[in-house]
Amino acid sequence: MKAMRLHAQASIDTSPLVLEVVPDPKPGADEIVVRVRACGVCHTDLHVIEGDLPAHRLPLVPGHQVVGVVESLGREVTTWRVGDRVGIPWLHSACGTCRFCRRGVENLCEAATFTGWDIDGGYAERIVARAEFAVAIPLAFSEAQAAPLLCAGVVGYRAFRLSNAARGSRLGLFGFGASAHVTLQVARHLGCEVFVFTRNETHRELARSLGAAWTGGSPDRPPAPLDAAILFAPAGALVHDALRALDKGGTLALAGIHMSPVPETPYELLWGERVVRSVANATREDAAELMKLAAEIPVRTEVETFPLADANRALQAVKASRVRGAAVLVVTTPDSAAP
Ligand SMILES: [Zn+2]
Ligand SMILES: [Zn+2]
Repeated sequence: MKAMRLHAQASIDTSPLVLEVVPDPKPGADEIVVRVRACGVCHTDLHVIEGDLPAHRLPLVPGHQVVGVVESLGREVTTWRVGDRVGIPWLHSACGTCRFCRRGVENLCEAATFTGWDIDGGYAERIVARAEFAVAIPLAFSEAQAAPLLCAGVVGYRAFRLSNAARGSRLGLFGFGASAHVTLQVARHLGCEVFVFTRNETHRELARSLGAAWTGGSPDRPPAPLDAAILFAPAGALVHDALRALDKGGTLALAGIHMSPVPETPYELLWGERVVRSVANATREDAAELMKLAAEIPVRTEVETFPLADANRALQAVKASRVRGAAVLVVTTPDSAAP
C-alpha cells in the first residue's frame, strides 16, 4: 500500500514526508484493519514531524483523524464487521488498569499510546487500530467532513467542557483553526455567546458566518468580560491576553499539546480566582458524545481537501494558517481499486 512516511524529524518546509510503498498491515487479535478514505491534518502532526514533540518511532506514518471502512478483523473482535464505517482518533490505546483509567480519565493513562506517534497513522491507504478505540461515524457526515471531528472536534469539545462554559456564558476562542471552528458551533448550539480572537481576516469572516458575536485581535478587549476562554493557538504569550479578557472566577483552558513558554505572569492576572488548565488528549466517551452532538446540531465542518501525495503541502498550509477550517487528505474513494 502507499503511505506518506517520515524518516527524520525536520521542518515541514523541507517536505520531509515521502510517498512510499510499504507492506499492508495485518490485524492482531483485538485489532481491525481499516481502508482509509480520509485523514484530517492536525497541528499535532506538525509538532511530531518538526520535532516539537520527541519521535516515538521512525520511520513513522503520521495522521490521527482517520475515517475509513473496516476491511479485516482480528479473531477476538466482535464490535465491528467488515464494511463498517469507523473513525480512528488520537488515543490508540489506554491500559484500563492505572489510577487514571480507573477514574475515567483514560486520556491521562500512564501507558497510553497514540495514533500517528507510537504506531503508524492514517496518512496511508490502510491503518491498523484497536477495535475498542475506534468510533462509529454518524451517517450525517461524509468521510472528509467527519475527519476533523476526530481530534480537532473532540479535543475542542473536551476543552469546552473543562472551560466550564454553560448556557448564557460569554466564551472566548483564541486562534481560529480546525478545532475552534467546530467548538464555536457546539458552543452556539449549547447557548453560549462566542467571541473570537484571531488576526486572520478569512478566519474572522468564517467565525462570523458561524455565529460569533464579535471578532477581534488577541490583544483587543471584548465588549464584556469573558466567563470562559479556550486558547487554541500554540503561543504561550497569548495566555496573558486571554487572562486580561477573562472575568473573575473564569476558566482558561489551553487546548494545545505543545505550546511556546508561558511568560512570567503577574499575579493580578490570576487574582480573582481565575483558573488556567491544560487539556490533555481525549477519552472515548468525549469522542462518542461529540459525534452524537455533531450529528444533532448538525456541525458543518469547512474542509480543504488534498490528495495523499500532497500531505507536505497540506501541512505547510496548516502551519501558515492558510486553511479555512480544516485540511483533510482524501486517500481513497469507494471506487478506487485495492492495490
Ligand atoms: Zn491507564
Ligand atoms: Zn490532533
